[in-house]
Amino acid sequence: MNLDVVIAGAGPTGLLLAYELGLAGVPALVLDKAQRPDEQPRANGLVGQITRVLAYRGLLDGTSFHPMAVPRFPFGPLSLELDRLEASPLHVLPIPQRDLEELLHDAAAGVGATVQRGHEVVGFEKKDEGLVVRVQGPTGEYRLTARYLVGCDGARSFVRKHAGIAFPGITSDEVARIARVTMPADEVAIADGTLAVRGVQLALVRPNRTATGSITITPQSILDPSVDPDVYILATSEPRPPHLPDTLTFDELRASVRRVLGTDLPITGARWLRSTVGNSRQADTYRAERVFLAGDAAHLFATGGTALNAGLLDAVNLGWKLAAAVKGTAPAGLLDTYHAERHPAGRRAITHTRAQAALSSSGENADALREVLAELLRYPSPLTHLATLMEGADVTYGPGPLVGTWAPDALDEHMAAALIEPLRGGRAVLVDSTDDGKLAAITGPWRKWVDVAETPGSGPSALVRPDGYLAWADGAPDGLHETLAKWFGTP
Ligand SMILES: Cc1cc2nc3c(=O)[nH]c(=O)nc-3n(C[C@H](O)[C@H](O)[C@H](O)COP(=O)(O)OP(=O)(O)OC[C@H]3O[C@@H](n4cnc5c(N)ncnc54)[C@H](O)[C@@H]3O)c2cc1C
Repeated sequence: MNLDVVIAGAGPTGLLLAYELGLAGVPALVLDKAQRPDEQPRANGLVGQITRVLAYRGLLDGTSFHPMAVPRFPFGPLSLELDRLEASPLHVLPIPQRDLEELLHDAAAGVGATVQRGHEVVGFEKKDEGLVVRVQGPTGEYRLTARYLVGCDGARSFVRKHAGIAFPGITSDEVARIARVTMPADEVAIADGTLAVRGVQLALVRPNRTATGSITITPQSILDPSVDPDVYILATSEPRPPHLPDTLTFDELRASVRRVLGTDLPITGARWLRSTVGNSRQADTYRAERVFLAGDAAHLFATGGTALNAGLLDAVNLGWKLAAAVKGTAPAGLLDTYHAERHPAGRRAITHTRAQAALSSSGENADALREVLAELLRYPSPLTHLATLMEGADVTYGPGPLVGTWAPDALDEHMAAALIEPLRGGRAVLVDSTDDGKLAAITGPWRKWVDVAETPGSGPSALVRPDGYLAWADGAPDGLHETLAKWFGTP
């Protein structure tokens, strides 16, 4: 079978990439080695710019999931009190990962992608102008030829290893034990973001450091109001023992809580128990010729809440570029901009998650660090800086101040409204605010790729890429014509 794009992995990253390709007219084949999706709960939601990107794509239409700016959010053991700012720059989308995967699966299938489960990518080699991909399917091994292969195959990515891409970084010397637990309401008291239980007072949602580790308790109903208020996501973190059993038992979880807190919690039941050792790593390169990496295959973070933002933004960045390459319209160097833009973004996310891990560590130096940073966070500027970093909005895909930023944030309301329809269709758009529409005329040869919205008299005119980022704005160093050629080729 001759294919354009094969995606290894039908997790959120692979499915969104398949949607983005389909939107651009390139139906992808997504292969996943698992027979069915993992039922074990993972993310409870998305944090950062991707929440709004999904909304602009129309992917949340008709669902009960909507991005919202949050009044406060944990930064390691500290709380960012974002309601002190005029507007919170940090957005969340409380959607369980399984729901997100279902939504993305249906969206990808709706634009022509094929998802095959029980098919594992087990090898690939370069051949002529493409790749031969070896797949282990339910009835044995078979081969496909494809022009491009994208490894969205998770943390232990086969594609990354087989492509010989290094994955340097660090492994935590702590182990996290996580479960959904039940604690009866008459045993706990919740007020002002804290939980009082058996004489202990704990901050909710963020890690509480003790002499022996840390404990984080999050009422599941904060994330999903349909869940019983007695259900909590409980996580402890302690030094990693020399031998870590593969599975976590209820007794081990309870023992861990006792070691960390010095007392038992009134847990009456626990589900989805797992222990994990955090890794903080990044692939050296996100591209090796015709092979790309995205999502967990490309980066892993020391603390939670960041991975899906980084991974799904990879998919949105890569989709339209790969589609242009498949159609033969990509200008030289377009595919290289994927690594050039997304690798620094992954590095920034690694930096803030490592900083959160350092802040969560024990010892008097870490105490002092927490105290000093908490003092700084009383001021709007450092608060905004950290929230923007966590949003993933501090990395721009260009020289700035407008070029390279996410357009709906950079443009005025009227102009941002003009982006909705084109971005829903994955189209680039020129927002022309001149009185005579003279910029629109320049786009003539590129109309196949670029829509035009005329908004006379509003803010600066701007060219927005299919992923929603500003490619050009009035006053940018390159002219509009050069910018169109740079991103969409010379027709
Ligand atoms: C308990 C827990 C809580 C989490 N909470 C959050 C959170 O709150 N926020 C957040 O942003 N992130 C969170 N994460 C991280 C998040 O779940 C991952 O970042 C996300 O699943 C990564 O998506 P992905 O598509 O890149 O990879 P994955 O979801 O890992 O998907 C990879 C897929 O590739 C398939 N595969 C592997 N090898 C092959 C192969 N050779 N051929 C074909 N298919 C293959 C696998 O079967 C799998 O389906 C959490 C993770 C865990 C474990």
